[in-house]
Amino acid sequence: MKYDVAIIGGGPVGNYLADLLAGEFNIALIEAKTSFGGKACTGIIGAESYEKLNLPREAILNEFTGAVFYSRIQSFEIKRKTPQAYIVDRKVLEKSLAERAIKKGAEYYMGTKFLGFKNGKALVQRFNERFEIEADFYVGADGVSSKVAQEIGAKTEAEFLSGYEVEVVGEFPRKDFVEVWVNKDINDEFFMWVAPVNESLARIGTFGSYDVLMRFLRLKLLNETKIIEIKAGNVGLGFRKPWVKGNVALLGDAALQIKPLTAGGIVYGMLCAHALRHAIRKNDLSIYEKLCGDIKKQIAFGLRVRRLFKALDQEKIEKLFEILSSKEAIDVIENYADFDDHRKTITALVKQPRLLAKALRITPMLLRYLV
Ligand SMILES: Cc1cc2nc3c(=O)[nH]c(=O)nc-3n(C[C@H](O)[C@H](O)[C@H](O)COP(=O)(O)OP(=O)(O)OC[C@H]3O[C@@H](n4cnc5c(N)ncnc54)[C@H](O)[C@@H]3O)c2cc1C
Repeated sequence: MKYDVAIIGGGPVGNYLADLLAGEFNIALIEAKTSFGGKACTGIIGAESYEKLNLPREAILNEFTGAVFYSRIQSFEIKRKTPQAYIVDRKVLEKSLAERAIKKGAEYYMGTKFLGFKNGKALVQRFNERFEIEADFYVGADGVSSKVAQEIGAKTEAEFLSGYEVEVVGEFPRKDFVEVWVNKDINDEFFMWVAPVNESLARIGTFGSYDVLMRFLRLKLLNETKIIEIKAGNVGLGFRKPWVKGNVALLGDAALQIKPLTAGGIVYGMLCAHALRHAIRKNDLSIYEKLCGDIKKQIAFGLRVRRLFKALDQEKIEKLFEILSSKEAIDVIENYADFDDHRKTITALVKQPRLLAKALRITPMLLRYLV
């Protein structure tokens, strides 16, 4: 059978696209693993996007109404009345989306690895058996080390980071708050996060090295022997080009549709899935990248902020924390903060003349990076 669309990769984004397209198109989804889940991912997704994208509620493990930001010597808190983000069970998320897609007619090839394109067909292998799957369009949703991207000759100069995350048993009484620690003395690559699953379990992670994560754990007075799960994985911050070649498109981490500030990729990938559906409906993949223009702008902005973060030393970060913990800044953040639109939040802050003037006194290069 020839399919309309073959999706290679059944992570959250591939499954989401399968669900979007199934019923309207004949869909094949090819997933190398024999079951869903297992990827290193904290599973934090902005609540507003979660509702808009109509993601399965059964995957939600906990809700966050606020965040506490810590530097080396100070902290401030942002809080809202309603949940701003959820932490999800990735396996349940992927399985529920797959279930929805299959009910609408999508055909799934689990335990089936995409090996490459041969005569316009996808050559795949399940255990010892090799066979071909043919489709009008192919979508590479096969993650950051995408084989599909390699096959179409996509190139990148992105910054690749190794992420480490542990699930640890401890006491997390404020289970509706995420902690974000910005301390270059511990990790100059990235921030550290603590995301409670409940009052006695949290996902704690960072990008950099496992050693750094363990140092942070000790600082939090948590014990390595209370870890019940360790996960490691990579993200790529930057652009991979092109996203389309002929009848093949890249989606999600395969296209590096990832927020450079937080390394979250689920929402951007899913938003781009909508653009891709539109392009497939029009039978014209060449419009896909243009339709993702907003996401591209978000990524470009995030990369500039990341460059700024890398250029700052901890002393300057402490001074910026002083500004951010002022009532004026907190009011702006609480009013404008958008979990998935970092540009909106940061632009709202730099639009306040007093805040901008203070920040420029600390780091004049702010203008070069942000404005
Ligand atoms: C430590 C860490 C924490 C993170 N935390 C968050 C977070 O809190 N929130 C967030 O939004 N993002 C987070 N991310 C990023 C997030 O994990 C990715 O953006 C997200 O998984 C992208 O989804 P995807 O479906 O595009 O790719 P993936 O989840 O990577 O899925 C790709 C799928 O393709 C399959 N595959 C690969 N190669 C082949 C092949 N040759 N043939 C067939 N199948 C193949 C894989 O088995 C996999 O199932 C985190 C990442 C890391 C490393």
